[in-house]
Order: sequence, then structure tokens, then C-alpha cells
Amino acid sequence: MSNLKDFVRVRADYFLGRPQKIKNLYVETTIACANRCYMCPARAVKKESTYMPDQLFKKIIEELAEYNFDGNLHVYGQADPLLDKKIFERIDYSHKSLPNAKIHLISTLNHLTDEMIDKLISAPLERVATSIYELDANTFLKIRGSRKFKEKLTNTIKFAKKWASVQPYEFCIHFFECDFNRQEAEFIKHFLEIIPCTLTQMSLHPISLRGVIKKKRDSWRFGTCMYSVPKITGDGNVSICFFDTNSDLKIGNVKNNSFWELLSSKNSCSLRRDILFRRSNISEKFCDVCDCAENHTLFFFLPIHKVINKIPFLPYFNSVVRPDQTKMRHSSMDVEKKLISFNELFGNNSDEWLDVIANLRNDFYKSTDS
Ligand code: SF4
Ligand code: SF4
Repeated sequence: MSNLKDFVRVRADYFLGRPQKIKNLYVETTIACANRCYMCPARAVKKESTYMPDQLFKKIIEELAEYNFDGNLHVYGQADPLLDKKIFERIDYSHKSLPNAKIHLISTLNHLTDEMIDKLISAPLERVATSIYELDANTFLKIRGSRKFKEKLTNTIKFAKKWASVQPYEFCIHFFECDFNRQEAEFIKHFLEIIPCTLTQMSLHPISLRGVIKKKRDSWRFGTCMYSVPKITGDGNVSICFFDTNSDLKIGNVKNNSFWELLSSKNSCSLRRDILFRRSNISEKFCDVCDCAENHTLFFFLPIHKVINKIPFLPYFNSVVRPDQTKMRHSSMDVEKKLISFNELFGNNSDEWLDVIANLRNDFYKSTDS
């Protein structure tokens, strides 16, 4: 009964545009990123790299501390947080002020030095993640717009090895199959079974990041994330959507108001309702074309979607309920075992990884051909 009550209450809140408990907050301390990924809306417009002032960062963390924030604090937006020279100080400060929050960091790892690896390993984090979009320099250039392929892989391999020896938190690798055939995808799965990490995730295409890749869909789509996953940019703008690159969905600025007041302000509730009921064409730029939006055509009103999701013989219903990106998500095998096979392959000399990967690929293709 209480489940049903919650279901009704949450739907009523959705219709009124009221925020829900904040599960994930993105604080974008910098907008700097050296990559130029084709699907990244943040890179579509050339912007000067900016960094959040200390005073502003502290104000945000103090406000979160007032309500004992215990959700996930992501210290990044659409950028590489390791380009923020103060990031480790900020992580420490956040951890001390918000002991119950879980701090997450996702980075390209392109600029990782040995000193940064040590800092990263000892940082009070819940999870570090990186995305590998490719295992060859040409595809890397095509997707990332960067020639730093060797740096990316070398740093990832170095970090993975160090991380595996202590495992202070989760290390996740996301892989997006963009440009290769099934056999290459199988090889990458094989590669991910060797590289030490706690979780790997493969997706058949990079997340659309608001329509950069995908076209508008017809069904009634919106992201429940707009109720519980806000973002604060380096200049203090608060947006109801964590993918909002240019603060188009801005509800105010934390320099002038409290973060909590902004979240439940009239302005923010009415913006959510505008998107939900498609009262303005802003949703065409956001939820209508975003992979994070769910299709609510039918099941939004029926508290049975959890049951439907569990029925294996109803793939159609499953595809209706779930976002339509196909994912192969698997927990990795035992990290200790991975480390042994990884050390056998890479030894102490991770700089030779290119040859190692080429040999691995050849062996893998030979074994699948025979
Ligand atoms: S997707 Fe990430 S790595 Fe690529 S340009 Fe955007 S912020 Fe940088
Ligand atoms: S655009 Fe995407 S991320 Fe933003 S609120 Fe809509 S569904 Fe969520």
C-alpha cells in the first residue's frame, strides 16, 4: 500500500514540477577538456576554459552540509575535472564537510601524471570512471578529435594497475562500440576481461547527449532526472538537467540564492512542467532527443513497470519501458585474477601496450576464426 501511495505521490509531484530528493548532483568545477568528441554538446561551441572560484565552491558545499547531503556528488560536468588544479583539495573539502556523500569522478585520464595517480588513488572517492571509445588511434581521432590515443591508453593501463593493487574504490570503464564490427566488439569484451577494474559497461553507441546523434522521437519522453539530478556550473548557474551545457534550463544562480531554494522555486517547478507537457519548444532540444529520457507513453500511469520488466518473454514491453539504448553491462571477473593475467600481458613495461594489444587482437581473431 505504501508503495502505491509513493507511486501516486511521486507522479503528483512530477505533474506539479516539484523536485524529488537529490540523488545525484553535478558540480562542474571547470569546463576544460582537451578532447573534441563529436557527440559532446559542450564542445559544439568553442568556450574559454573557466574554473569555479574557491569561495563559490565552498558556499555550495556548506549549503549541502546544512541538509547533510548524502547523495552522489559528481565533481564534474561535461569536462575533464583533472584539468582543475584544485580538484583534489575540493574533493577533500567535500568529503570532510559531507561525510555521508559519495563522491564520483569521471575523467579522460589523458593528462594523468605519476603524482596525480598517487593523489587519485588516495582521494576519498566512491568511484572513478573513464571511457574508452576505441583500441586504435584512427578511431580515437575520429571519435575524440584528439591525437592523444597513446597517452590515453598508457595512463589508463598505468592507473588500472596501481588501482588494482589497493582497490580503494570502484574503478569503472565504459566502452562504446562506435565504428567496428561484431568481431572487434567481441575482442574488446575480451580486452575488458583482462584490464583490472570493477565494472565495465559496453554500449552500442555513445549516449546521444541530447540529440547530437539521434533524431527526435515521437513518443512521450521525459527524463525523471530533471526532478532529482541538477547541475551547478563553474559560474554558479543551477540547471535542472545535468546535460545542460549552456544553462538553457537555468533556474537561478547560487551566488545570489540558496541552492535548495532554487530547486523548489516557482520558476523551477514551472520549467519542469513546461518540459513535461511540452509547453515550450525547449523539450525538443532536451528530453525529446536524449537517451536518458524514458518512454512514458503507457507505463507512467501504471504501477506495473517493475513487474513487466522482469518478464523475459516480453521484449517489446521491455523496450517500451526502458530507454532504447542497448547495453551490455557486466561486473568484471575477480580483480585479483584480472591483475595476474594483466601482469602476464603487460609486465612492468606498460609502454609496450600497443604491441601487446596488437598481438592480443591477432591471437583473439585466430582463435575465433578456427
Ligand atoms: S564527451 Fe567528455 S571527453 Fe569528450 S569532449 Fe565532452 S567532456 Fe571531453
Ligand atoms: S535532457 Fe536528458 S538528462 Fe536532461 S532532463 Fe531530459 S532526459 Fe534528463
